[in-house]
Amino acid sequence: MRVDVVIVGAGVAGAALATALGRAGFQVALIDRSPHIPEVIAGELLQPGGFQALESLHLEEAVEAIDAQKIIGFSVLQGEEGQALAYPPRSESKEHPHAETKGYAFRHHRFVGRLRTLAQETPHVRFLIGQVSDLIIEQGRVRGLCYRDAEEKQQTIYADLTVAADGRASRLRSQLSQGAQPEQVSYSIGVLLKDVPLPFPQHGHVFLTQPAPTLAYPIATHAIRLLVDFPGKLPKQSNGEMADYLLSSLLPQMPASLHDAIRRAVEEGAIQTMQNIRMRPPSPTLHGAVLLGDAYNMRHPMTGSGMTVALNDVRLLVEALQSAHFHHPPALDKAIQSFYQKRESLAATVDMLAGALYEIFRAKDTTHALMRDAVLRYWQLGGFAVSGPMSLLSGMAPKPLMLLTHFFAVAFIEAGQRLLRAPTQPQRIFRDLQDVFRLVSGAFTIIQPQIPRGLRIFSPLATALYPTPLSSQTKG
Ligand SMILES: Cc1cc2nc3c(=O)[nH]c(=O)nc-3n(C[C@H](O)[C@H](O)[C@H](O)COP(=O)(O)OP(=O)(O)OC[C@H]3O[C@@H](n4cnc5c(N)ncnc54)[C@H](O)[C@@H]3O)c2cc1C
Repeated sequence: MRVDVVIVGAGVAGAALATALGRAGFQVALIDRSPHIPEVIAGELLQPGGFQALESLHLEEAVEAIDAQKIIGFSVLQGEEGQALAYPPRSESKEHPHAETKGYAFRHHRFVGRLRTLAQETPHVRFLIGQVSDLIIEQGRVRGLCYRDAEEKQQTIYADLTVAADGRASRLRSQLSQGAQPEQVSYSIGVLLKDVPLPFPQHGHVFLTQPAPTLAYPIATHAIRLLVDFPGKLPKQSNGEMADYLLSSLLPQMPASLHDAIRRAVEEGAIQTMQNIRMRPPSPTLHGAVLLGDAYNMRHPMTGSGMTVALNDVRLLVEALQSAHFHHPPALDKAIQSFYQKRESLAATVDMLAGALYEIFRAKDTTHALMRDAVLRYWQLGGFAVSGPMSLLSGMAPKPLMLLTHFFAVAFIEAGQRLLRAPTQPQRIFRDLQDVFRLVSGAFTIIQPQIPRGLRIFSPLATALYPTPLSSQTKG
């Protein structure tokens, strides 16, 4: 078989890309190893920036008829006390005048099921079931792939472009790139609560529990997903350790209104677990192919942004391919390179935010606890101190500098307040000065590993130090 584009993986990224390219007139083969979509605890909250990417791709119907729940903001709670933070208003456009800023939460398999159906209904898209085993590489260029079909027969597809959207455990990643370093950060323990309202309707929730934060959002009319982060060795379910952990350690830290529902869920065994992996984008090494979605880049699920990044990547890739002279390999290579560059501003911002918020909310030592309390006080200022961070969280602001500005504003405003009160409370001077030092140095420690990637987007010097993927090959 010969097509324009062959896409490996009919998950969020692959299925959305197939529909968008098929509608644009490309001949597409979309291939997945299974017709069944597993019921996983990942990818259940789509931030507004992801929903807006769906709209740009004319795929917003993917959240229809799946009992998706509208989300209009986030709330942060410590015990019974909480603060609701609204997503900032969406900037008006001709297409969406006065459109409200909203995300959606849903069962992941229902959403992917809708995306796959849309792909199957699209002319020019062939949906195939098969396990992709190898790429066809000729003269340093990917020309297509081999797969084993449902009858275990070896098949071949030739294409101008091969897209690896084969997810977090991507088999194709190592063939298409170098320097990938997937790193396990922690586990997520997913608990399904039934028939109980969350403290703030239509909001995502962050509960500041120890040893790490717990997320919650409504994923169907009568269902709430609790995502408990667990940094250490996972308690076993088989010998009751997990139930014991959830009931004796987590439950007392949660609002009383949720206790009965958590007990019921634990009794019913409505518990699933997953590894939380982060991975910076590796450097692609071959032309004629592109890495997409989790196969290319991952971050901690703290901010619920994986699908937002993936769908924005799909939007940018479609734009790049539509404006390129697709059947002219050098022009296609340039389009792919420009896609990799353009995606960085949102992806780097979101990755930095997820990493920093996870460290701060986890509050594993005094310095991080100081930062966490400073963040909560910063949000109480309201105005820009809320709308800025919320536009970053929602995936609507691809602005690493804005993130750095808010991050250091948190540390310096808190430090300033402590210094100002020093003369009136002399007995606390030493402790306050110590805290000021901890805050400022802690802020640098948390954000410092992320800075090179954030700066690469702006600085030619930093670009030279951290080269863009494929840049060496496309020169000349
Ligand atoms: C615990 C957890 C919670 C999360 N919560 C959120 C959230 O709330 N919001 C959010 O936006 N993101 C969240 N994420 C991230 C999100 O789930 C992912 O970013 C997103 O699902 C990635 O989509 P994808 O299309 O790249 O990969 P996938 O959805 O994993 O799709 C990959 C597809 O490739 C197929 N495949 C793999 N190998 C082959 C092969 N060799 N041949 C053929 N087919 C193959 C698979 O069958 C699969 O269908 C979470 C992640 C975790 C771990």
